[in-house]
Amino acid sequence: MTRPQAPGESRAEVVSAMEHVLGAVSGKTIDEKDLRKLNNDIEKDPQAKSAVQTISNAVSGQGPAVRYCPVDGERYSPKFTECPVHHVSLKILTQ
Ligand SMILES: [Zn+2]
Repeated sequence: MTRPQAPGESRAEVVSAMEHVLGAVSGKTIDEKDLRKLNNDIEKDPQAKSAVQTISNAVSGQGPAVRYCPVDGERYSPKFTECPVHHVSLKILTQ
């Protein structure tokens, strides 16, 4: 009952990201204990957390699409649907 509430992104998302990354790198199944330890390490390090999510998205191709402004090409996180500067609908960046 002392479990801290993770702000923002869900922990499940991060764990899933770790599975993708580690699975892709090592080619073997990661057990839950390893995953929990890694997840804890990542939780303490926002940069690592962000990097893992970025890598995972790139590897899996299932991550939320990056969006960009059709006016100036500025990229925004998938949370944005409209350019805050130009007030136009953002387009989805495809690779
Ligand atoms: Zn714009």
